[in-house]
Amino acid sequence: MKKRKVAVLGATGTVGQRFISLLAGHPWFELVALTGSGRSVGQRYGDAVHWLLPADVPEGVADMPVLPTDGPIDAEICFSALPTEAAAEHEAALAKRGHHVFTNASVHRMDGDVPLLLAEVNFPHVRALERQRRERGWSGSIVANGNCTAIHLDLALAPLHRGFGIERAVVTTMQALSGASYPGVPSLDALDNVVPYIGGEEEKVVAEANKVLGTWDGSAVVPAGIPMSVHCNRVTVRDGHTETVSLTLRGAPAVDEVKASLRAFRGRPQELGLPTAPARPVIVRDEPDRPQPVLDRDADKGMATTVGRVREDVVLGVKFVLLGHNTIRGAAGASVLNAELLVAERCI
Ligand code: NAP
Repeated sequence: MKKRKVAVLGATGTVGQRFISLLAGHPWFELVALTGSGRSVGQRYGDAVHWLLPADVPEGVADMPVLPTDGPIDAEICFSALPTEAAAEHEAALAKRGHHVFTNASVHRMDGDVPLLLAEVNFPHVRALERQRRERGWSGSIVANGNCTAIHLDLALAPLHRGFGIERAVVTTMQALSGASYPGVPSLDALDNVVPYIGGEEEKVVAEANKVLGTWDGSAVVPAGIPMSVHCNRVTVRDGHTETVSLTLRGAPAVDEVKASLRAFRGRPQELGLPTAPARPVIVRDEPDRPQPVLDRDADKGMATTVGRVREDVVLGVKFVLLGHNTIRGAAGASVLNAELLVAERCI
């Protein structure tokens, strides 16, 4: 297969750096362009970036120039790690010019003609691209992925909603500092503390989770309509969002049935053997004290969600804890997997 040329938009940021590390040596994609804001445009990437990942900047990337996001980009696929306003300014323009944009920004996630794609869960939603091209007249496209909290929640909820039906859910998150972008929460606000507010996050998780778990009716996504109560908190963890989840499932299945459903879950990425696909999207652990961020966030290269402490809940029926890497599966890795799926399925 001839490698597809790809660009990373917002390449110097937290998610941009993850894209660069995931795309290094990718068997299908060749990284040919990087963009940034006026702060870094014209600089060598290695000089513009404050690199935060343990391995060095991949060979060859440090010497690439940082390009403007509104100039010519010689890449068919653009992975976007742009902040909201920049995404609003540039992503539609790029799709109009023929680029396929896989975005982490929230600006287009809830648009009726933009698939909010979670590769294992809702591949039929890519039919929205036909409407997008027809109504907007674009030769390219925009495909969004959910926010870092909703992605991991949906991976755990999808098999349970499919297998039993979810009647209601209560979710409490403990979200990592890297989810707030670099430099994130000031150290004096974060250290020795839990901040019980992340602006807009609770509403986003409810809306996005219901869109991802919804069904494509031939012209639009019908949201799943699961009543959810969500509390979002920022905690002093570097990477990895933890979420406690309590659910009422139709038919009140036993704890062992719930575990079996999560363990059996596989999607198109696993069937197709996509390069970035985890072997199992959901890993279920039986130890009483897992998952933990330092031990489980890198499970299957950060692409899997780890679920533990599955047990009976006297109020709602069943409860568990889940954990996932927010900048890998919760952001850049989700986009790369979405792009692999659309290439494999010949949608782009
Ligand atoms: P970030 O660290 O602040 O990085 C932002 C990037 O965008 C930088 O490369 C910056 O370039 C560039 N940029 C800023 N303004 C720009 C402009 N006007 N035009 C072009 N480029 C511009 O942010 P992040 O944490 O990586 O988040 C990126 C996106 O992913 C956001 O939409 C965020 O909501 C979403 N997201 C983040 C996470 C996470 O865990 N962090 C998870 C899921 C989704 P310069 O360095 O040159 O200024």
